[in-house]
Amino acid sequence: MNIKENVPISELTTMRLGGKARYVIEIQDLKDIPTAYNFAAEKKLPTWIMGGGANTIGQDAGFAGVILLNKLKGIEVVSETSDEVVVRAMGGEIWDDLVDFTCERGYSGIEALSKIPGTVGAAPVQNIGAYGQDIATVIESVEAWDRESHELIILSNTEMQMSYRSTIFNTGKDTGRYFIVAVNLILANDGHMQPPFYNALQKYIDTHKITDFSPMSIRKIVSEIRAEKLPDPAVEASAGSFFKNIFVTDDEAAAVTAAGIKVWEKENGKKMINSGYLIEGAGLKGKELHGMKVSDKAALVLINKSAKSYADLDAARTEIRNAVQEKYGFMLEQEPVEIPTGVK
Ligand SMILES: Cc1cc2nc3c(=O)[nH]c(=O)nc-3n(C[C@H](O)[C@H](O)[C@H](O)COP(=O)(O)OP(=O)(O)OC[C@H]3O[C@@H](n4cnc5c(N)ncnc54)[C@H](O)[C@@H]3O)c2cc1C
Repeated sequence: MNIKENVPISELTTMRLGGKARYVIEIQDLKDIPTAYNFAAEKKLPTWIMGGGANTIGQDAGFAGVILLNKLKGIEVVSETSDEVVVRAMGGEIWDDLVDFTCERGYSGIEALSKIPGTVGAAPVQNIGAYGQDIATVIESVEAWDRESHELIILSNTEMQMSYRSTIFNTGKDTGRYFIVAVNLILANDGHMQPPFYNALQKYIDTHKITDFSPMSIRKIVSEIRAEKLPDPAVEASAGSFFKNIFVTDDEAAAVTAAGIKVWEKENGKKMINSGYLIEGAGLKGKELHGMKVSDKAALVLINKSAKSYADLDAARTEIRNAVQEKYGFMLEQEPVEIPTGVK
């Protein structure tokens, strides 16, 4: 088991902020999980699970605890019929490698989730979604280490209670209870996404007169759209969308529309206010605040241009939230999670 000491969280997260974590343990084998938790318990330190750090913010004080870094590897086809295929991927695999694996074989179900940074194990945590797909619709189960019963268990799709950016892994009393070891997906064999597509995807397909909707073709289109719009974590520091979109009831939507705010109707009939549209409406798109830039291509994304500390991010976040609340009356909710400092 590989134990490192005093590792800057800025080096483990795509936003590249945060002080030192006291210990970081790489989980390379299943047996490393209980060993790492025992190590932390013996030292009376809190723990935190991490994959690629693409949805995680570190604070300046760091983390006086033990980070378990998921490095469990392996992807396999568990079963296959002419209609359906079950793919099992270990949690430390890079999510986009899994998407590539499935698209290469013509399996449909996660092709629109191409190029989402991070690991397979984190994908169910906030129910990743993009361009009309989310993992909730294809996930059969996860295999996880349960910190309460100290054993490997299986959680079914319904047990995970997945909705927009919310599951039992990040919401409610069981937050942090499960270390996701592997993910089992049920994908369509020989199938493909059907039109009409999610707005940006449809626009691209129409403009380029594309008729090939195979998983690999959709993967290529989504990759191009994302490369145009979203920062590449290898080049620019960010955590992707920094705020969540706002879902409203039909009555709320009517009131909001009457007040002149645009409401989007999603494919599933749900009504949503795009938080990026509110940030843009508040005049902040493209603005740099305390070293954090509101992306000029997607206003939901904050790019760390020159922020040196979490305090800079905090100041920028407060200004954005206040401006949106003043103009529209909505308090924006942050999407990325924050590692608590662990200081008691
Ligand atoms: C440029 C950019 C674009 C993005 N685009 C999208 C997008 O289109 N759609 C979208 O949904 N997200 C998007 N994201 C957010 C991010 O990519 C996803 O949330 C991704 O799943 C994070 O994976 P990670 O391994 O980096 O997670 P981390 O940041 O390491 O962890 C995120 C959370 O999951 C927990 N966790 C991690 N691994 C495990 C595990 N094995 N078991 C239990 N809990 C675990 C952590 O404790 C933490 O709470 C984007 C981010 C960036 C930087």
